[in-house]
Amino acid sequence: MSADFFDEGALVGVLTTQPLDRALDYRAPEGGCHLGAFVEVPLGPRKVLGVVWGTGEGGYDHSKVRQVIRVLDAAPMRAELRHFLQRAGEYTLTPLPAMLRLCTRAPGLGDPPSMRKVYRLGEAEPPRLTDARTRVLDVLREMGGLSLTLKELADAAGVTTSVVKGLVKLGAVREEESPRDTPFPRLDPAFGGKDLTEDQQAGAAALRAGLATDVYGTTLLRGVTGSGKTEVYLEAVAACLARGRQALVLLPEIALTAEFLTRVEARFGARPAEWHSGVTMTERRRVWKMVGEGHAQLVVGARSALFLPYQRLGLIVVDEEHDTSYKQEDGVLYNARDMAVLRAAICGARVVLASATPSLESWANAEAGKYDRIDLTARFGAAVMPRMRALDMRAEDLPANRWVSPGLQGAVRQRLERGEQALLFLNRRGYAPVTICRACGHQIGCDHCDARMVEHRFLKRLVCHQCGESKPLPEVCPSCEVEGKLAAVGPGVERLGEEVTALFPDARVAVLSSDMYGSARALKAEIESIAEGAADIIIGTQLVAKGHNFPLLTLVGVIDADLGLQGSDLRAAERTFQLMRQVAGRAGRADKPGEALLQTYQPEHPVIRAILGGEEEAFWRAEAAERRQAGVPPYGRMAGIILSSTDVQEVFDLGNAMARQDAPLRRIGAQVFGPAPAPIARVRGRHRVRLLVKADKGAALQPALAEWAGQFRLRGQLRMAIDIDPQSFY
Ligand code: ADP
Ligand code: ZN
Repeated sequence: MSADFFDEGALVGVLTTQPLDRALDYRAPEGGCHLGAFVEVPLGPRKVLGVVWGTGEGGYDHSKVRQVIRVLDAAPMRAELRHFLQRAGEYTLTPLPAMLRLCTRAPGLGDPPSMRKVYRLGEAEPPRLTDARTRVLDVLREMGGLSLTLKELADAAGVTTSVVKGLVKLGAVREEESPRDTPFPRLDPAFGGKDLTEDQQAGAAALRAGLATDVYGTTLLRGVTGSGKTEVYLEAVAACLARGRQALVLLPEIALTAEFLTRVEARFGARPAEWHSGVTMTERRRVWKMVGEGHAQLVVGARSALFLPYQRLGLIVVDEEHDTSYKQEDGVLYNARDMAVLRAAICGARVVLASATPSLESWANAEAGKYDRIDLTARFGAAVMPRMRALDMRAEDLPANRWVSPGLQGAVRQRLERGEQALLFLNRRGYAPVTICRACGHQIGCDHCDARMVEHRFLKRLVCHQCGESKPLPEVCPSCEVEGKLAAVGPGVERLGEEVTALFPDARVAVLSSDMYGSARALKAEIESIAEGAADIIIGTQLVAKGHNFPLLTLVGVIDADLGLQGSDLRAAERTFQLMRQVAGRAGRADKPGEALLQTYQPEHPVIRAILGGEEEAFWRAEAAERRQAGVPPYGRMAGIILSSTDVQEVFDLGNAMARQDAPLRRIGAQVFGPAPAPIARVRGRHRVRLLVKADKGAALQPALAEWAGQFRLRGQLRMAIDIDPQSFY
């Protein structure tokens, strides 16, 4: 018996997805089981999913220990993944069962292999051959032994399914059962590589060199938008696949996957596995199983793809690594970028963090020599970086409730005359952020949150961006009941669309905002048709800043460059810098030079000047110096604690008690700030209070936090969430 196999009856510890704080003892099932096996076990009256985590603890009456019901039809979880869940759980202060749930998010894992009927050529010759029948047999002959489902076959032959079924009766077509979860087509690393520029070649060579071993390492791949970062990291994927290891590419936005899958197909001759919330349940199960069996070489997906049971993971690419959507903000609070580095370190894989505007964290890690760094400084081909200029709004003459300055209007008009596209960027969804009563001054808020409701004229509703609650726009003020006095204040993209349509009545205007399309598919179709020229003026939220290619676009106008500079978020400057550079990067990707105009009331602001000057290294150095001075990330550590309850007194009482009993934190030299009402002090009817913990970079923060929080019982309605390295401060 080897150390990782348990014979029938042996005591095993099984970790389940149920909220228990430890593994439970069971006896191994008939036939025994492997360490890491996915199993079904009895728990009270129920059957639950679990993983064989180790040897059982013992100490119970052996005859009372229940037996594992069965081993599931799935590859055992590898030691690497168990280790990763453990470490990631310790880092994020998440109990193991919750971590296990992250990597069993596919339906029907406990079901027997799902079968489906497939069709192939039979032995018999049909007595009478119609045109339709001939077409069916021709299709099957061309498939050369491959099988098709009924619908695939009927569609390919252009016949009804009854024609196929008729042929089955005659024995000319054979019907068989075959597993539904089929391997993904092989990707060919040598299929369609492009001729790389000298810079790109050097970058690709450095990444390939890293992939020649099974030793962990992270590379920051920094390159201006359009410099060919994707082309370069696809070479790393190729090198990884050629070594027989699996690769994962994380993208920040589902809407980007379609374009990316097409590029993968052009590079490797087939499409990879796709994993995100838009993928069907049956496909998710197929991906999960095939990844575990090594029959999916490349996965393209959202952050949760990091928790798939790879067999030999060799490379993780985090594209647009600075993107805030890598941070999961509910449930398990983790940052997929950081967890990618952790998993790679455990399984001896390489990480590529790609971005035009890296996070300060990654920039600092490269500065400190922890990460390698590759720079692509020029755009590919004839494309050059756009010229950037501020439009000083103090000097522009603009009536109330108008947001496109005469200067920007002129630039748009020029593009229209030349048949080029212009993009107006405003990072605000909906029609107007505030609805105010002109009679009494009341602002319409959400009933469940301390947030104003945002008018969405397209949906004909007011929507709370915190909890998603919506209601029709009232005709009378809910406060003073005067009719006809409710007015929209401030711009959202829908309202901007209205203004632009009035300014340029002959132009085709498209508003791109995630909430205006019923599905990811509809949004993708719209983006594609815009890229092909179906709109003259694009109005968009940050959705458009994220990596889409609009070859005809030569002007970017930022409606409110100051928007992100307000507020107390420690990353306000960094975020504004990244977003503005990204958005500007959308202009002039093809052969025509681009221009970016930033409407601002504070052109002298250091961040605005850094954006305009394009002196990125100088910006990072200044920002780093400030953070180091303040002892905040990445030069110090932080954790946010959010307490919530329906009872406001209860939640403040707990917050005060926590602030007082801070001995475990003081022992590591950490400080507690708060309790203070969270910036949004009520969400979904729950009052929220936050504390902030700051510690030195080297401090052992997590164990201290665990000890500190462990002193308090959460009674009744109280909830506590601990957010390590918080990204948003709401
Ligand atoms: P980034 O990821 O840095 O924004 P991409 O990899 O998307 O840049 O490249 C921008 C565009 O230039 C893409 O359409 C890409 O196919 C093209 N491109 C980049 N490098 C090359 C190359 N060496 N040969 C041909 N096309 C290239
Ligand atoms: Zn709300």
